[in-house]
Parts: sequence; C-alpha cells; structure tokens
Amino acid sequence: MNPLQQADIGPAYLEEQEQTLEERIAARKRALADRLLILGHHYQQDSVYKFADFTGDSLKLAREAALAQEREFIVFCGVHFMAESADILTGGTRKVILPDLRAGCPMADMAAIEDVEWAWQELTGVAEGARIVPITYVNSTAKIKAFVGERGGSVCTSSNAERVLTWALGRGEKVFFFPDEHLGRNSAYALGIPDDEVVVWHRAKPLGGNTPARLQKARVILWDGYCNVHMLFTAAHVTAWRQKDPDIKVIVHPECRHEVVRLADKYGSTEGIIKAVAESPAGSSWAIGTEINLVNRLRHEFPDKEIHLLAPFQCLCSTMYRIKPAYLLWVLDHLARGEVVNRITVPSAIAEKAKLALDRMLEI
Ligand code: SF4
Repeated sequence: MNPLQQADIGPAYLEEQEQTLEERIAARKRALADRLLILGHHYQQDSVYKFADFTGDSLKLAREAALAQEREFIVFCGVHFMAESADILTGGTRKVILPDLRAGCPMADMAAIEDVEWAWQELTGVAEGARIVPITYVNSTAKIKAFVGERGGSVCTSSNAERVLTWALGRGEKVFFFPDEHLGRNSAYALGIPDDEVVVWHRAKPLGGNTPARLQKARVILWDGYCNVHMLFTAAHVTAWRQKDPDIKVIVHPECRHEVVRLADKYGSTEGIIKAVAESPAGSSWAIGTEINLVNRLRHEFPDKEIHLLAPFQCLCSTMYRIKPAYLLWVLDHLARGEVVNRITVPSAIAEKAKLALDRMLEI
C-alpha cells in the first residue's frame, strides 16, 4: 500500500451506528489505557474531539505529544502536517498515527519543496548578496520545515508570527515567508512594514511574477498559499454584522484576508480566539471568522454569550473532517491487535533539519 493511501475500512465501520462506534471507541481507550494518547485539534468535529486526552492548536498538541514520554501510541486527530510535527518533536520514539491518511492541509500542500527550492534559487540570484531568512508557518510539510531549518530560518505559528518575523528581519535584509500569504501580510502590517516592501511570490511565474527591482526593494516576500476555509470570510461579512448589531465584536484568524483582519476588532490564533471569548463579559456578542467546529463549540460552552459564525454559510475544514469516529475506531482496533496502521514517520535526515527550525522558534 502507498503509505499515503488510505485503506478502505469497509462497511463494518462505515455503516456502524454512531452510538455503537462511540461505545467501542471508549472501550478500546480503556483497554489501551496509558499506552495511548489521543490528541484533538480545535477544528475537529465533536464526535471525535470528545475522545481527546488533550485538545489545542497544532503546536500545543505537538508539544503534548513530546511531553507524553510514557505513551506508546499517539493518535493525532488533526491533519497530516500536525502528525509530522509530533513525530519530529518526539524524535520518532512514539508511534504517531493519523486515523485517515487523506486528512491533509491544502495550504501546506501549496508549498511543494521543488517549487520552493526553485523560487529560492531565483530569489537569491536577483537579491544581490542580501541575506534572506526563510520562515515557515507550522502549517507546512516536514520537507519545507527542513528547508527552512537548514538555511537558518524558523517555524512560526499564528500566535507568534509577528515575533518570529521581527527576529528574522533582525538577522537578514529579507524574509521569505511560506506558505500562507495572509498570515505573512497581516504580520508584516502589524509591524509597520510599508506595503511597497511586501511582495507576493506567485508559484507558477518566473521570479514569482515580480521584476528584479521589486524583489530587490522588498523586505518581505510572501508565498502565495492560502487556507481555503479562512478565505471564505470577506469584508462584506464584517460590515453586515456591524449593521445588524453595532455592539458586536468581530474576531478573526490571521489566515483571513488582510482587509477582513483590518476591519475586525481583534484577530488571533485559535487559542487567542477562545481566550478572548472566554474572558468577555456575559451578554457579549461575537462574530467569529474561523472554522465552524470551533465556533459551534464556543457557542455551546458559553451560552451566556451570543456567538455567530462571521459568514452566513458553513466554513468547514473538509480535510480535518475526514477524521470520523469510524476511522478512529479502525486504528484503535488495529492497535488492540498489536498492529500499527496509518503511522506517520518523517525520515531522520528531514526530521533533524526540521527540528532545527522548530527549536529556533521555541528559543525566539
Ligand atoms: S483550516 Fe485551513 S490551514 Fe487549517 S488545516 Fe484546514 S485547510 Fe489547513
């Protein structure tokens, strides 16, 4: 089997009643006890999320994995790059499992290593000896993290991107930021970097669609990746909520377009959004620009507040949604039989370099 090809788990799992699946998952969890750690990302659907021993954003979960020395199996209910990060941070000592191998991140896949290597070569060719520091958002493949680590750069998350960008600009004249254009642009704007010193590198075009002069002037070069979930939120959604409820607070994730972030009252990572809502007084009303599962969960957890999704339609991370109870049970059933399926491993040559970039972020 291709290691990235999900096996057909069959009707015995796919057609099973939800209640039965839940009972069987709970029984497997009890039986595997301390050998097993289940991690659940904030965007995970509730029917899976409720089985998580720890919940959080991708980096918090990878750190939990690294701390769980005694656990043999880490079942990561998130997407592929998150499981890779957990494998890197645990040094391959734990078996990290992704319940459905099709749970990838389209944004991470927008920065293919071959394209990035080519772009780097082109950029260094026109940069006239300027030192370029690469930064990659944690939502990237292990190969991109390794590329960045090898060239003295760092990983960043949505909560520390501004700090990491400041660090990088203190070390070089230019930053090449992968793969999310919007997190990079929003961070550069927050640091007061003028618009004409920020350019987008369009993957399919020579010099990323820029002139040599434009690249020579630029301080921040943004890869043209994006999250198709957060791109659904628009400035018109913010305006519509403000007209409907002048007291509403709008909070969005920094993967949203720049004009949406600028119009919002606040922006922040998933952890930042949760904290802002939790700390707001009873009766507050919020329009939130992030994935629907997190917004629905906040609505249930804070019934004393009025919580809305910023857009008038569902904004679902459809790849994360592939992790369903049937797939979780399927991997647990195999573990109970002593078989490890869907293990995510990063080859040590890549993992070592990727860890350099992750460790640099932790130092910053
Ligand atoms: S919400 Fe967007 S960035 Fe996050 S995992 Fe899904 S596609 Fe990737």
